[in-house]
Amino acid sequence: MDRVDAVVIGGGMAGLVAAWQFSRAGLKPVLLESRGYTGGLVAGSTIAGVRYDIGAEGWAVRVPDTEKLAGELGLTVEYPRSAPSWVWFDDGPFAMPVRAILGIPADLWAPDVVAALGPEVLSRAAQLDAAPLPEQLPSDLGSLVELRMGAEVLRRLVAPIAGGIHAADPHLLATEVVSPGLTAAVRSTGGLAAAVSLIKGDGPVTSPVASVAGGMYLMAQTLTDQIEQAGGRILTRTGASSLAHPAGSGRGDDWVVRAAATHRAADPSLPPEPDGQPVEFSTPRVVVACSAVTARPLLSQVIDTSGPELVAGAPIAHVNLALQAPELDSGPRGNGMLVAAGSRGVAAKALTHLSAKWPSLTASCPDGLHLLRVSYGRSGQAAQDLSVDQALSDASALTGVPLSADQLVASQIIHWTGALAPTTPATRAWVQGLHAQVAEQPGLGLTGAWTSGSGIAALVPHARQTAARLV
Ligand SMILES: Cc1cc2nc3c(=O)[nH]c(=O)nc-3n(C[C@H](O)[C@H](O)[C@H](O)COP(=O)(O)OP(=O)(O)OC[C@H]3O[C@@H](n4cnc5c(N)ncnc54)[C@H](O)[C@@H]3O)c2cc1C
Repeated sequence: MDRVDAVVIGGGMAGLVAAWQFSRAGLKPVLLESRGYTGGLVAGSTIAGVRYDIGAEGWAVRVPDTEKLAGELGLTVEYPRSAPSWVWFDDGPFAMPVRAILGIPADLWAPDVVAALGPEVLSRAAQLDAAPLPEQLPSDLGSLVELRMGAEVLRRLVAPIAGGIHAADPHLLATEVVSPGLTAAVRSTGGLAAAVSLIKGDGPVTSPVASVAGGMYLMAQTLTDQIEQAGGRILTRTGASSLAHPAGSGRGDDWVVRAAATHRAADPSLPPEPDGQPVEFSTPRVVVACSAVTARPLLSQVIDTSGPELVAGAPIAHVNLALQAPELDSGPRGNGMLVAAGSRGVAAKALTHLSAKWPSLTASCPDGLHLLRVSYGRSGQAAQDLSVDQALSDASALTGVPLSADQLVASQIIHWTGALAPTTPATRAWVQGLHAQVAEQPGLGLTGAWTSGSGIAALVPHARQTAARLV
């Protein structure tokens, strides 16, 4: 048995950040990652000779921690080109309101909101939002918007925008997870538009997201390199299969983590399964940073993990197209579009004009080359059959620019099935209970996007604090 300073289970962003934090404190962690690469849902690839992100593209800037981390890692931060994104309805696309959170407008009478919804819907929304607040506000985003602004604001703005970003019906999204502080702001201001306005502030509208110049995957790569340079060990294709409590481990105050080489699961978008010769580590510190579906059985060996059944994530898939298409130079739909559910003309749920959105990617593409990401797979839908022809047809409709197969330089189809499981109010309460139990176990930490709130912005500070608490 190998005795080590710390074991981190899971080499996505959360596990990498936790292991890096241990390294900074002078410890030499072992990080176990069941896939063949680190980064998890942050991953890079190459298309038409250009390196780009095939997973997460950036982070929400509402908290400064990820930008601070990028600086500490020596990475340059960049912001998307300033251009509105769009929403597609079969009866006509419109630009997304700029002063808004997840599509909820800060000012119901702003010209871009009027253009999107029309005065009748807005009069009704204003009336609803002026009503006194009930004793108890709904905890899911869909019900909150319906209550304060009505079904049309939910259908035309919040469902396509929040639903597009989080790959889930807004009724499945816990408001406090997808927009921390919104419920308290509604309470303090007395209205939903006023709450959004309070959070957004009066200053000029700045981008809500940022990334690393060159690609988000560079952050995962740099964390990996720096952990190894500081003496940490990163074991890919190695999955943790059991976790034993100090009291039951027979090793004093040490935890015992058993791991084994992995093979790919039948569905390659699911985490691989351990099946090789077991190896064991004893350690005073363990951070569980793998996805919920694998963390739950590991944690159940030491705490009570009974609770709600986890809601499956959408069958997300992307068809990425590299096109020689100077007609797209003007970025006809800003940085991209979200497609409202139920569209008959378009099968895709979103399009991102990657090479227009990120300045470093624009600079990497030779003249006239454009990278488009056409996204499929809504929550509750069965996985769709994907084809490059369908993606070309959808991209043509969405951009308003006819795009043909002879302009195609390269394409990639990427599946992220189930990767973004929504945090429902019930899951959130269950996770809070897990954290309370983990806090009572000396030397044990739990982190990862599913435990810390939504996305990279939330997991970075959480993973750092989790490791720092155990040093
Ligand atoms: C297509 C896409 C786009 C996204 N865009 C954004 C975005 O723009 N901004 C944003 O903030 N977020 C975005 N997200 C979400 C974001 O990527 C995730 O919230 C974040 O990367 C999750 O990191 P994590 O470390 O918690 O989990 P993961 O990345 O899922 O990492 C968990 C790791 O644990 C490993 N593992 C599982 N079981 C075991 C085991 N038994 N032993 C060892 N290892 C194990 C897995 O292989 C995996 O690598 C996006 C996600 C997707 C899929």
